[in-house]
Amino acid sequence: MDYKIENEYLNDLMQKVMARNANEPEFHQAVYEFLNSIAPALPVHPELIEKQVLERIVEPERQIMFRVAWIDDNGRIQVNRGYRIQFNSAIGPYKGGIRLHPSVNLSILKFLGFEQIFKNSLTGLPMGGAKGGSDFDPKGKSDNEVMAFCQSFMRELYRHIGPDCDVPAGDIGTGAREIGFMFGQYKKIVNEFSGVLTGKKLSFGGSLARTEATGYGLCYFVNALLREKMDTSFEGKTVVISGSGNVAIYATEKAQQLGAKVVALSDSNGYVYDPEGIKLDIVKDIKEVKRGRISEYADRVPSAKYTADANGSKGIWTIPCDIALPCATQNELNLDSAKTLVANGVKVVGEGANMPTTLDATKFFQDNGVFFTPGKASNAGGVATSGLEMCQNSARLSWTFEEVDARLKGIMENIFHTVDATAKEVGCENNYVVGANIAGLLKVSDAMIAQGCI
Ligand code: GLU
Repeated sequence: MDYKIENEYLNDLMQKVMARNANEPEFHQAVYEFLNSIAPALPVHPELIEKQVLERIVEPERQIMFRVAWIDDNGRIQVNRGYRIQFNSAIGPYKGGIRLHPSVNLSILKFLGFEQIFKNSLTGLPMGGAKGGSDFDPKGKSDNEVMAFCQSFMRELYRHIGPDCDVPAGDIGTGAREIGFMFGQYKKIVNEFSGVLTGKKLSFGGSLARTEATGYGLCYFVNALLREKMDTSFEGKTVVISGSGNVAIYATEKAQQLGAKVVALSDSNGYVYDPEGIKLDIVKDIKEVKRGRISEYADRVPSAKYTADANGSKGIWTIPCDIALPCATQNELNLDSAKTLVANGVKVVGEGANMPTTLDATKFFQDNGVFFTPGKASNAGGVATSGLEMCQNSARLSWTFEEVDARLKGIMENIFHTVDATAKEVGCENNYVVGANIAGLLKVSDAMIAQGCI
């Protein structure tokens, strides 16, 4: 892709990033989205150029790649590739999830690690940006195989992380089961019980509300927007949510609690449409208990229809809705889908996944008066609650569900107001891509400058 930025300085940097990181399309996309939005900050913050903050921030502090060999149930040795991208530690220890999915490569983890810097900054908590993972596919593997993989992964990763250095967590393919196996292995090797991972089970230092946090946080963020900008709420709205993993499930739960009707969910094979409203207890049984596919929902619920959609579940965006919450994966919502959503009257698009909307689709929403909220702002509730888990671990305490949930809600409303006010300040009212990138950047930039040439 040929990325051009109007501002010459930013354009030169963009071209350098592309040349230096060839064959990394997702990383280029994330850097372009960022650099292309921050020009309004340059005249007000000359230090960004004078101190070469941007040249520094696009370069990861450290990138780790390693072999992960493990033995499958047939006694055969399998080999995967493990990664940890420690992108920026200016404002706190590296923090970010571990993605386990066959698509994982350096480009995807660099885009995720880069976005994590600004997301974590927006939470207001002291967390740097990182991401890790592997091309291991937990789907279809036995518990024993998942454990063998996680233990081998941690046998290398342990030397690079620590509760005050780098604190990984879940992401696609990494849930409480995987975090448990990784935590056990870390503890055994280091001989230390610490808060080195978040997303742990409650019995060994996990936080209440961490499971729900990303989805709940997304709805708290969108609800603040609905209230402030449209004087309305989720009450009575029709909502389409893509995905059916942790983020989608708890976004559905909170949207329903707030009075919305969620009519669709998806996975990588297709989507279900239930005009009577998704029955979440059935989805939870299929996904969380049985680790099954979303097609099973239509087998169990007569009002639902399943459509196989080999094209990465694009079909879900043809369902008319007031609010669309893409909660599956990167680039799942393209320009064609954006046009269909707008034609069908969508008012708000809130990203629950990381970078689920393509750049041209984002622009189309913004040009057509749709409120668009980028994932680095609207899905920050997950990592924010990870930050709260770190607090509880350090204090050796555990807070009630109500306490964590109230803090999460406060953090998400605060992010909305920060992003909204920042966009307004630089003359780009309602452009939350600009607001999120500039607000996230300024805190990190301040810390980087104060710490000298790092
Ligand atoms: N993977 C999540 C994210 O994209 C959570 C990261 C964390 O809790 O550290 O923000």
